[in-house]
Amino acid sequence: HPLVVAIDGPAGSGKSSVSRAVARRLGYGYLDTGAAYRALAWFVRDRAIDPADTDAVIGALPSFDYAIGTDPDDPAVSVGAVDVTEAIREPAVSAIVSAVARVPAVRAHLTALFRSIAAGVDRPGIVVEGRDITTVVAPEAEVRILLTASEQARMARRSAEISTQSAQTVADQLRSRDRADSQVVEFMSAADGVNTVDSTHLDFEQTIGAV
Ligand code: C5P
Repeated sequence: HPLVVAIDGPAGSGKSSVSRAVARRLGYGYLDTGAAYRALAWFVRDRAIDPADTDAVIGALPSFDYAIGTDPDDPAVSVGAVDVTEAIREPAVSAIVSAVARVPAVRAHLTALFRSIAAGVDRPGIVVEGRDITTVVAPEAEVRILLTASEQARMARRSAEISTQSAQTVADQLRSRDRADSQVVEFMSAADGVNTVDSTHLDFEQTIGAV
């Protein structure tokens, strides 16, 4: 089976850009599992389903038809015929994704899809990133990394990426999403056998090198 590099970490840790760059250099595939949770949140919103209505969210799963690219140069995401690559990054989606992701049936459904995508990639390996890859999705991965950074560094990086909102708003939203997500999966500290890479004082190149 393809070699798996599992990378977990909180928002703003540099996880996505580092994971993509590592995949590109190794000639591996790349899977952004957060993008799949975001695509489901987008779908729930598009269908006007209340994200807090667990039964309605579960009821929508069979018709959630999404495709996620594993090419690190083009990680496009679509739901049905709609390209949602950009739309899933919008604040309205970020605001409800944790509520959707906390439903156990949702996690089981997506975890099964992630495993089949990883097993079927037509490259020698795949970098899979998220919150529970090292612990739940691929605990047997050959490489398991927790990518961390101080809260201050994470907030600064994320607010540099988002120009449409104030630094304070971005920080508040990030903190509340981390808090909600931490209740569902542990990604702030490394599980047994997981290597921690702290990028607080590393630049992009140095972080890629460490991974
Ligand atoms: O990585 P990103 O911040 O885009 O992930 C969006 C959301 O998807 C997270 O806030 C979390 O609620 C959910 N998620 C998850 N498990 C993963 C990846 C993401 O619950 N493995």
